[in-house]
Amino acid sequence: MSRKVTHHLPPAMLAQYAAGRLSYAFSVLAAAHVSLCRDCRDQLAAHEAAAGLLLEEAAPAAVSEDLLPRLLARLEEPAAPQDRQVEDGARPSGIYPGPVMMALKGRPPRWWHLGSGIRQALLHHGPGGSLRLLSVPAGRPVPRHTHRGTEFTLVLQGGFHDETGHFSVGDVEVADARLEHTPTADPGEACICLAATDAPLRFSGIVPRLLQPLFRI
Ligand SMILES: [Zn+2]
Repeated sequence: MSRKVTHHLPPAMLAQYAAGRLSYAFSVLAAAHVSLCRDCRDQLAAHEAAAGLLLEEAAPAAVSEDLLPRLLARLEEPAAPQDRQVEDGARPSGIYPGPVMMALKGRPPRWWHLGSGIRQALLHHGPGGSLRLLSVPAGRPVPRHTHRGTEFTLVLQGGFHDETGHFSVGDVEVADARLEHTPTADPGEACICLAATDAPLRFSGIVPRLLQPLFRI
């Protein structure tokens, strides 16, 4: 991509991603950002090189034969995409990076209308959080809201601005309970974002709040 990404994954999140410790929703978002951002790709490679050295120095340990089936049985969430899958997984399609196409299972998003032209496609909803695509018409604000947990938003098309700055394709905004904001899409084209949360949003207005249980946003 020609434009340089200016808002990156927090370093701690990148380290957790490299270690495979992120939830499914956050892993997909991290993988999608890494696929769009050379800086974070380089840092991820450094993390992996360091982890490889640690593994080489660790003494091999005997593992019982049923370890893998037992581990698999304990996994409730879909497998988190790791960096290899960024390269080997589903191919990018249009504005959607490979990791997002994997989460979409190779199919186009199934959009739900939330009102005011805003659309959402839920990709995953589980105990560890939710992953969705959000499409906001050009120039339109998203109703003012705060967050119960942490929300990461990755821009895939267009851009938006809020009280904290401006975000374009490839940029990630991190929002938590301290941020109450009204993101507004740039003029020109719809702003399409990938949003990963570990808890539902908290809207300030009554109408969006009523819609919340319906759309699991
Ligand atoms: Zn980055």
